[in-house]
Amino acid sequence: MRNMPAVLVVEDEPSIAELIAVNLRHNGFRTTWSIDSASAEREIESAVPDLILLDWMLPGESGLVLAKRWRANPRTKEVPIIMLTARGDEADRVAGLDAGADDYIVKPFSTKELLARVRAVLRRKGPEDVGEKVSVAGLTLDPSTYRVTFEDAMLKLGPTEFKLLQFFMNSAERVHSRAQLLDKVWGDHVYIEERTVDVHVKRLREALGGAGNMVETVRGAGYRLTARPLIPITPTEKTSA
Ligand code: CA
Repeated sequence: MRNMPAVLVVEDEPSIAELIAVNLRHNGFRTTWSIDSASAEREIESAVPDLILLDWMLPGESGLVLAKRWRANPRTKEVPIIMLTARGDEADRVAGLDAGADDYIVKPFSTKELLARVRAVLRRKGPEDVGEKVSVAGLTLDPSTYRVTFEDAMLKLGPTEFKLLQFFMNSAERVHSRAQLLDKVWGDHVYIEERTVDVHVKRLREALGGAGNMVETVRGAGYRLTARPLIPITPTEKTSA
């Protein structure tokens, strides 16, 4: 039997929640609906969904606050979040992504776009993404345990940054344009802007800490992961053997 992905819809406007729920159900998803942060927390307490559609403007705690909290919670940190927002400003969209959202949809949206984004985010998270353990210059990524370490220290990465790093590491030293990254990492980039790549690269560098400069910007070309960053990985001098 095919598994129906469970989507939690956190939305205080019943008409929008209804529209989303009906369309998702018609397309093979199970949906639950929470009207505010308190009921969303109760819902997650009883069952962790496969994906969360999260409205930005909610009574009480905002979607932004919820996204940050769920990202910090081990129980929910890997659940993809798509923010629903009437705010189309770039600064707001970046704030949503910075809070840990994997994608955002600006209201009003078409149900076609909603479904495309839901599918794209779930595809990025899918089990087919699991690959081989890979190591580059002290940085190790293990898809089977979902762990990333740098010189044996554990690093914390969001789902999109993990996927991005995995792609970079599997093709280390090669330069990828933003369009190529959208195609290979996001899978379905019809509705995603190239600016999104920059946001996730920035987050990836921050998450990598001391190894962050292994992700290089190649002017006019894109990004690559290199074992030999132009700026040394650690500020401390390495003693030669
Ligand atoms: Ca709202």
